[in-house]
Amino acid sequence: MAWLCSRPRKGRLVPIWGFRATSVVLTTAVYVCDRCGTNAAHRLTKRVRRFTLFFVPLFSVSTTYVDTCTACAGTSKWPTRRPRPR
Ligand SMILES: [Zn+2]
Repeated sequence: MAWLCSRPRKGRLVPIWGFRATSVVLTTAVYVCDRCGTNAAHRLTKRVRRFTLFFVPLFSVSTTYVDTCTACAGTSKWPTRRPRPR
């Protein structure tokens, strides 16, 4: 979590804004890892970064899907866009 705030001024409202990241495990699957070659469980995690104003999340800035191997802890990003049909 990162927070930024402006310098307080006399009689003015101080906007406090920043970003908050949350992650949710979507599913777990077992297959052979590309990095270590072990047949191990992989966690697919959705990470969402949101813009916050006064500690209230307003809208998402970015969304990424990350695959993590439980044997070697290697991670790889999944594509967020579907391929276009030809
Ligand atoms: Zn691995």
